[in-house]
Amino acid sequence: MNLSSLLLVSLIVLNSPAFSHAEDSIPLGPAHPGIVSTRPDPARCNQYVSKLQSVIAGLPPSAQKHRWVVVCSLDPWNYALHKAGAWGRTNTAFTNVSGKTTFINGAVFEEPEHFYRQTIYHEAGHVICACGNEARANQEAGRLFSAASSTPAMGQ
Ligand SMILES: [Zn+2]
Repeated sequence: MNLSSLLLVSLIVLNSPAFSHAEDSIPLGPAHPGIVSTRPDPARCNQYVSKLQSVIAGLPPSAQKHRWVVVCSLDPWNYALHKAGAWGRTNTAFTNVSGKTTFINGAVFEEPEHFYRQTIYHEAGHVICACGNEARANQEAGRLFSAASSTPAMGQ
């Protein structure tokens, strides 16, 4: 999935009616658009975390200090989505801006590097702007992407 289709999905999300969620829900920040077709494999969790760490290492300090959670099996991921009121809005990642936590579906790390980088950069965009605005998050994600691709030695 390329950036423009991500943006398109994002706009659809923005235009969807306001989401109602149960009283006990985690206050929902932004949900990340995009679709993964596989399920996370708990046996590969360490690998997912390593991939996440290598991307995070190249992020600005505010995003490095953020709490990133990789959910490595499907049932807990589905639970987290329901709990956050994000069911049906994303199956890649979502950020609770006020709680300073991002939950990532481990399955994104089964996708090509470009895909999971985009997922992480988008969520990092929310962290950097400290906002739930999808357009601003995508703008920041674009900056992070160009910064990463213009730096030969990444993750230092
Ligand atoms: Zn978003």
